[in-house]
Amino acid sequence: MFKKTIRKQVHLNGTGVHSGKDVNLWICPSESGKILFQRKDRGDASVGLDIEKIQAMHSSSLICGDMKIRTIEHLMAVLFVFGINSVLIKLDEEELPFFDGSALAFCDALERAGARTLSMEKKSISIKKPFLIKEDNASIHGTPGDGFKITYIIEYDHPCIGRQELSLKINRDTFRKEIAPARTFGFLKDAEKLREKKLALGSSLDNTIVLDDEKIVNGPLRFQDEFVRHKILDFIGDLSLLDGRLSGYFKAEKAGHSLHLKAVRFLTENKEFCEIA
Ligand SMILES: [Zn+2]
Repeated sequence: MFKKTIRKQVHLNGTGVHSGKDVNLWICPSESGKILFQRKDRGDASVGLDIEKIQAMHSSSLICGDMKIRTIEHLMAVLFVFGINSVLIKLDEEELPFFDGSALAFCDALERAGARTLSMEKKSISIKKPFLIKEDNASIHGTPGDGFKITYIIEYDHPCIGRQELSLKINRDTFRKEIAPARTFGFLKDAEKLREKKLALGSSLDNTIVLDDEKIVNGPLRFQDEFVRHKILDFIGDLSLLDGRLSGYFKAEKAGHSLHLKAVRFLTENKEFCEIA
């Protein structure tokens, strides 16, 4: 298995969900064998994707000194599933565009860009021994297995969500059809608190499924269980930091970015559980 870049540069424009700022994004071919981000508004300063520089808050962000690249997880998920691991991503603001809150715009862009195989070997990452990571009532459990499979369980005390569970073998086809269209969701009661913290400044009924205490404010849903599907999208984006072809079964329950990243760190640091070759 070899690394891949894209055939041609693609440009995207949109708004950051937390910053609320308009941003241009260019995904460019690169022979570096790495995913590199470059801030055009910061004198072309660049930073490579690196688990040590990732912070999870309400999204996953790459932080290097005072330079930030925010909300990278949806694009990372698409690059990972499409097997593209050598690109230069330029942007002229600190947060990636959010589009409709799903990963569809990034899928369309990378399909337009095409793919090209490089003569650089790609790592293969296999779960070797079952592991369990817990935090309060959230958990991530991994077991060895052929291919890459995710089971995700969420439980919200809300009449439109409740308990949702979905298991899926992840490949480009299942991702494109079952996961990429699933949008971000948020609760109206949290909106004010987030905005006080200067978060969700760009969120709107066009990029977030909004729930009040009883109902979905801006239906219809794209899937009856769109919520758990979006959690799988975010989980893939965070697992993409392992950077390679992934084999194993993951079961996540009531998890979020911070626990996803704990699992990624555990796997990179514990060779008896995870073989990276
Ligand atoms: Zn997300």
